[in-house]
Amino acid sequence: MRVDIVSIFPEYFAPLDLSLIGKARANGTLRLAVHDLRSWTHDVHRTVDDTPYGGGPGMVMRPEPWGEALDAFAPAELTPPRLLVPSPAGVPFTQALAHELAAEPHLLFACGRYEGIDQRVLDHAATRMPVTEVSLGDYVLFGGEVAVLVILEAVTRLLPGVLGNAGSLTEESHAHGLLEAPMYTKPATWRGLDVPEVLRSGDHGRIARWRRDEALARTGHRRPDMLTALDPESLDKRDVAA
Ligand code: SAM
Repeated sequence: MRVDIVSIFPEYFAPLDLSLIGKARANGTLRLAVHDLRSWTHDVHRTVDDTPYGGGPGMVMRPEPWGEALDAFAPAELTPPRLLVPSPAGVPFTQALAHELAAEPHLLFACGRYEGIDQRVLDHAATRMPVTEVSLGDYVLFGGEVAVLVILEAVTRLLPGVLGNAGSLTEESHAHGLLEAPMYTKPATWRGLDVPEVLRSGDHGRIARWRRDEALARTGHRRPDMLTALDPESLDKRDVAA
C-alpha cells in the first residue's frame, strides 16, 4: 500500500518509524511518505492560512497550497489516490472503514489545522478522486495529524503480513460486532486475584463458551448499541439463553 500524508507538521509522524508500522515500511509492505504543505507555498512567509470569510474566530487554511499539493498526487494520467481528510464533521472512523481503507492501493491524507481547510479544496478534489472526511469521535483536536496516526495504525495492522499472528484479527474487539472478553496471563494468582478457573482448565469448549459469554455481557454493559446492532443470525441458542 502507498500512503502520502500532507501536513504543516511533518515531525508529528516520527512514530511511524517504530514498531510494526516501522517494520512494514522497512520491508516495503507500506510505502509511506510525509510532505510539508509549506513546500507548495510561494511567498516569503510560506503562508498557509488566512481569516475566514463571513468573520468569526480563528484562521482557515488557504486553498492554493492545498490545490497544488493535491495536484502533485493526482496527475491526470494516473489512477488517483483516495483522499482522506480528518474532520470532526466527518463520518465516524470504525473498524469497518479501516477494512475498506486497507483494500485501497493508495491513500492520501490531508491534515487540517486552525479552523480547517477551505471547503473548495475538498469540492474540487472530489471532481477527480474519491474524498472521505473522517472523524475520530465527537470531540475537537488541534489538528488532523493525531487522527492520521490513529487511522494508519488501524489500517496497517490489517495489511497481510504486518501482524505477527494474523489470528489476532479474528479474535478481537469489533471483529464480530462484540467487545473482546477480558484477557489474563501468568501468574495464576496476583495480589490475591485469581485467573478464572475455566481459563486454566485446558477444556477448549468451556473456554470458548466462557469467552463468548463474557464478550456478550461486556458488550451489553458497555456498548448496548453494539448488542442491538448484532445480526440475530450471528447468535447461537446458548447466546440467547445467556
Ligand atoms: N472548525 C472545525 C469544526 O468545528 O468542525 C474544527 C477544526 S479543528 C480545531 C482543526 C483540525 O483538527 C481539523 O481540520 C481536523 O483536521 C482535525 N480534527 C479535529 N477534531 C477532529 C476529530 N474529532 N476527528 C478527526 N479530525 C479532527
